[in-house]
Amino acid sequence: MRQDKLLIPTLREAPGDAEANSHKLLVRGGYIRQLAAGVYTYLPLGWRVLKKASDIVREEMNRAGAQELLMPAMQPAELWQESGRYHVYGPELIRLKDRHDREFALGPTHEEVITTLVRNDVTSYRKLPMNLYQIQTKYRDERRPRFGLLRGREFLMKDAYSFDTDWESLDKVYREMYAAYERIFTRCGLDFRAVEADSGSIGGEGETHEFMALAEIGEDTIVSCTACDYAANLEKAEAGFAEAPPRNVDQLAGIEKIYTPGTSSISQLVESLGIPADQFVKTMIYIADGKPVAVLIRGDHEVNELKLMALLEAEEVRLAENEEAVAAGVVVGFAGPVGLDLPVVADRDAANLAAWIVGANERDYHLKQVVPGRDFKLEKIGDLRNAAEGDVCPHCGQPLQFHRGIEVGHVFKLGTKYSEALGATYLDQAGKTQTMIMGCYGIGISRILSAVTEQRSDGSSMVWPVGIAPFHVHLIQISAKDEAQRKLAEELYAQLQAAGIEVLLDDRDERAGVKFKDADLMGIPLRITVGKQAAEGLVEFKNRAEDVSEVYSAEKVLAEAVSFVKG
Ligand code: ATP
Ligand code: MG
Repeated sequence: MRQDKLLIPTLREAPGDAEANSHKLLVRGGYIRQLAAGVYTYLPLGWRVLKKASDIVREEMNRAGAQELLMPAMQPAELWQESGRYHVYGPELIRLKDRHDREFALGPTHEEVITTLVRNDVTSYRKLPMNLYQIQTKYRDERRPRFGLLRGREFLMKDAYSFDTDWESLDKVYREMYAAYERIFTRCGLDFRAVEADSGSIGGEGETHEFMALAEIGEDTIVSCTACDYAANLEKAEAGFAEAPPRNVDQLAGIEKIYTPGTSSISQLVESLGIPADQFVKTMIYIADGKPVAVLIRGDHEVNELKLMALLEAEEVRLAENEEAVAAGVVVGFAGPVGLDLPVVADRDAANLAAWIVGANERDYHLKQVVPGRDFKLEKIGDLRNAAEGDVCPHCGQPLQFHRGIEVGHVFKLGTKYSEALGATYLDQAGKTQTMIMGCYGIGISRILSAVTEQRSDGSSMVWPVGIAPFHVHLIQISAKDEAQRKLAEELYAQLQAAGIEVLLDDRDERAGVKFKDADLMGIPLRITVGKQAAEGLVEFKNRAEDVSEVYSAEKVLAEAVSFVKG
């Protein structure tokens, strides 16, 4: 294509609200434009990348035996009431009414629609297993839409749903999807990890993995082993643990009260007492299903709310507001378990300490030598904390490492959550009615654009991986008026295209500096520059990822480009 006529509105400056490099680049490079918060237009370049990523997803899904269909974005509210999610989903669900005052939602995901479809149209075991997918625009009224396409309110997702007769056959589909995802993200040029994830939030019963693109801007923390292949989302990661040797409580000294004026945080205590944070035990007040509970955790650790929910068998937990803590008899800033009339639970590592330093539950005082069991009742002990630097792998004992990640895909064994709620059953070989076993598999296709850009851009320069680059070759004719340059550029343009290579010809009447700056922003992986040596049939060839350029003849450049693109 010819750049002169294309809509590629590159910008010198990024919009003021763009914090992420990927957001800056995609706007500056003329890929996307914002219409409203979290709602974007894909300009011709952005649309080309989005289509390529979609094509890769489609190819790999088809190869894995999934069938493509397309479901409506507009979904009747009754479906969501039937599954029980109409209220649970909360304000993220965009709701609307039609002219007859009937309620609808714009689909944030399609479990309800697909399960209803399959319930009505698949009745026999003979059709199972079945894996159905679509590539479709999703709507979520995210609390904080941000980072461009990374967290949109309208975004492109691939969502697949599998239906099986038993868990074993679900496991097979799950493995196939997992393998397909590895191929997809590799072909999209992403540096990624598959990690064990938590199944609580979607409310399924089974295994689930997230595919994480490694990037500092990512909202998730990934914990992985430096030696074995253990990797998990921090939400889910087990904290390494070694139990302390048993001790004789009778030999421990009694409680000692210490005056600690104005020191209501662990860092203040560490500073004023000169004792390291791992010797303190914090008392945090949580509200679990409406009731206050005291959670004890070592000073250097953080509570993991999902683990807390599991230990307490609660549906919902959150930190108590100050007033709630006060109402429960807590002196905020100096909370402690001794004499507190609340259920008390502790993390294993806190429980492992011989004697604790805790808040005295009295303003400006702490207690030393506190012994659980002797000085207060401890109801439960469990893994309640996030894994932390210095922890070892729960599988092999080697050190764990931490990275930030962007969730680009998710595979999930749902089990019968939706098939039961919506009555998706089939007749088995014996003619008996059985409930289908489901899995769901999502990929944020528009998010892939941001994730790839995040890994390959500094905000003003970019290099796309060949698999999803908007064009393979950026053919730059330095001077629009030079006849030798024009002739050679046109020849190469025609030959490259005839060889099946996608070329963008910069035939604009612009200064060379402008052309190169734009080309850096646009990020097309190969650059062929037709300049001063055009009269001798020579051009400059640059593999942008390697940042090396060579001067080649026109024939040689053609061969090099073909071998680069076709592998
Ligand atoms: P997140 O934790 O990032 O909100 P999610 O767990 O809500 O993601 P899923 O419901 O599993 O996401 O959706 C499937 C995929 O869709 C995700 O893996 C992600 O790649 C993508 N996705 C989810 N929300 C958004 C969004 N607001 N903008 C762009 N992509 C999204
Ligand atoms: Mg979400």
